[in-house]
Parts: sequence; structure tokens; C-alpha cells
Amino acid sequence: MNMLRTMRRIGGHQKNNLMNAFKGRPLDAPSLVAMTIDLDDAEIAEGWLRRENFWQESAMAAEYENEFARWNGSSHAYAFMGGRVALSAAIHALGLRAGDEVIVPGYTCIVVPNAFKYEKINVRYADIELDTYGPDVQSVKARINEKTKAILIHHLYGLVCRDYEALIDLAKDKGIKVIEDCAHATGAKYKGVNVGNRGDVAFYSSEQSKIFTTIQGGVASTNSDEIAEGLRSYREKAPLPSRERITALLKNVIGSYYQFKHPRRWYMRDVAELKYAKYRLISTTDEEMKGIRPSFYGERMPVSLAAVGLNQLRKIDQYNEKRREQASEWERVCDKKGWKKPVVVAGSKPVYLRYPVLVEPEKKKDLLWAARELGVSPGVWFVSNLHPVPGVLADCPNANLAVERCINFPSLLN
Ligand SMILES: *Cc1c(COP(=O)(O)O)cnc(C)c1O
Repeated sequence: MNMLRTMRRIGGHQKNNLMNAFKGRPLDAPSLVAMTIDLDDAEIAEGWLRRENFWQESAMAAEYENEFARWNGSSHAYAFMGGRVALSAAIHALGLRAGDEVIVPGYTCIVVPNAFKYEKINVRYADIELDTYGPDVQSVKARINEKTKAILIHHLYGLVCRDYEALIDLAKDKGIKVIEDCAHATGAKYKGVNVGNRGDVAFYSSEQSKIFTTIQGGVASTNSDEIAEGLRSYREKAPLPSRERITALLKNVIGSYYQFKHPRRWYMRDVAELKYAKYRLISTTDEEMKGIRPSFYGERMPVSLAAVGLNQLRKIDQYNEKRREQASEWERVCDKKGWKKPVVVAGSKPVYLRYPVLVEPEKKKDLLWAARELGVSPGVWFVSNLHPVPGVLADCPNANLAVERCINFPSLLN
């Protein structure tokens, strides 16, 4: 059955190739995932697949954590199997408990509220603003009560959120903690400092659709020694992924190279499909969609993937610069088309994981026009308030509008 599906996908892909060649269009539309995986990353993954005896070692995982902290300008960093797990570590490190309340933007991924719900922490949703899709400080303020222990702020699409300073000041004033969700914004700067360094604790993602990638993965960082101790203790207790999962993750690194970056990917992609389809991993499981904690949730990063992460960090600044250049192209397109551009906050340097624009709702429902007019397939982050789980949140009108109208263009085209 799986094989049949694979063959169908290959057939469809080659039919598209023919059509594109016929119409003089490029054979491979840019991908929204794994565009930072190059041959060197695939070779590192190949190497670690042959060194299974060393998969338990932790030295290089520590090297990755240290290098991330250094590069990010943070005192401490700890690596996990997911940004969501890094968030769980942050929740542990802040000492949040059952019955506490946190405020989360009502425009996020389901795995974010899940991390709180696993600990029976109550989540209240604040609305976002439509300049940078960050939490709106007035909306956050209106939701604070005596049980509120933390605010989660995010820097979506790689944009530094508009109310960054106001939110940090508000939290200080009220004596509550700030968690920064930097899953889209690894390397974005505000006043010369990487985002994530102003709140109490931050998390980053190296999932395959993010700024840099280890297929799945995440980092938690802090500048507080006390919070670092909490993150470290969570990481100490965290198990490594199973042998099967590590194998699949490494195979996905290699497969992604053939699929998205190999110079002859118009057919190598299908060769890779035959070889790697059986290792495909899904980012958010059916259990997580229902708010259930998967059995393997909470793992730390194994040395083999950390080696890929370390290599990704060597290239991250270069790729982020490319993303910024592509963003200025999209800016020009927006000016021409009259679409609402995102706002670049004064003093900020975004990284543009994707370039978000607001279009008419009908245009979001059927994206074929974009391939025709712009030669790309846009992303649809987010398709719901708690992406990708259907459902609408009350009292979040801006978030609801973004769900209906925000599409996002790729920032790496090759
Ligand atoms: C991807 C994402 C996360 C979670 O990161 P994972 O590495 O996938 O666990 C959290 N917040 C936002 C906004 C994300 O897009």
C-alpha cells in the first residue's frame, strides 16, 4: 500500500515536471522546508549512521549546546528533540505548577498550549497585532490576573514582535515571567541582541520547516543561572530517542538533501523517495492534535543529530542573510500588488523564516494563482488559531483575521 502511494507520488511529480518543462517554468518550485540542508549535512548524517556504537555519547551534544549559546549571545543553552520539548523544559525550570495561569498568543501551534496542558497549567489566549503577528500588549494586559505566572511571547515568521519592550516591561511590572517562543526567529535581532535574550527563558526550533534544521529538534536558552539549573536538570532526566528514531532522523537529513537541494533533484528526488519514504517522520502526531502527550515526548538531542545542528549553525548567518535579501524582493512584489507588508520594528533585524502577507480570504483558500503569478507555492501558517487543529478562539479578532488571510512566501528559493 505504501509502495503504491509512493509510486503515485512519483508519477504525479514527473507529470508536473513535464508540464513545467513544456511551459518553460522551473522544474523544482522552492520548498518551505529543509532548504538549509546541503551535501555536507547529508555526509555528516551518513557518517553517523555508520557509527552506531557512539550514539550514546554526549560530548558533541554538549559542544552543540555551547556553540548555540555562544552564537546566540546567551549564558546557557540545552538541546532537546523539539522546540516543544525545550518549552516543557522551560516550564519545569520556571517552576510553573498545576493551577497556574499563562497567557499565550491566540495564533500559535497546538504543541505550545499542549506543553502547558501536560502540566495542568491553564492557558489564556491573548489577541495578536497585525503588524508583526506578535501578542498585542493591551490584550495581554487585559488577561492578567492574580493567578498569571508567565506570558509567552513570540516572534512569528522571524519578525521581531512589535510590542517586545512593552511586553517585557509589563511582565516586570507585574512580577511575572516571560517565555520567548523563538521557533521562527533564530538569529533575529533587536537592538543588536538576538531575540530570546530579553525574557527569562527562550526556546528555538530546528524542526524541518524552521530557520535551521535537524529535522526535529529544539534548544532552550537563558541568561539566568538559576533557570539554567532547572533546564539542565530536565535535560539530565530526558531519555535519548530510540535507535529506530535516530536512524529515521538521520535518513531524513539525507533524504531532504536529495529532495530539496541536490542539483538534479528533478529526478533524484524520486530516487530518494523510493529509498527514504519509509523513514518519513511526522512533526505533530495525532495524539498531539488531541492534546495527548506522546510516549516518546521529552527526549534530549542525541550526539549524531547535534553534529548536524553544529554544522547548520556554521551556515545560519549566511542563510539568514539570503532570507533577508529575498524578503526585499517580496517587499517589492507587495508594493506592486498592494498587499499589506509586515512591519519591521525600529531597531530590529528580522530573519524572515517566511514572508507573511495578508490577502483576500478566497486567495488563501486556493493557492494555485501564486504558482502561476509568482512561481512559488506559499505557506498557509496558520490555518487555525492553534495550528493545525481546527477551531476558532473567542476574543481574538486579529488572530482570526490572520487565520483567514495570512499566507507566507518562502525566503530561500535555492
Ligand atoms: C514549530 C513551532 C514550535 C515548536 O517547535 P518544534 O521544534 O516543532 O517542537 C513552537 N512555536 C511555533 C510558533 C512554531 O512554529
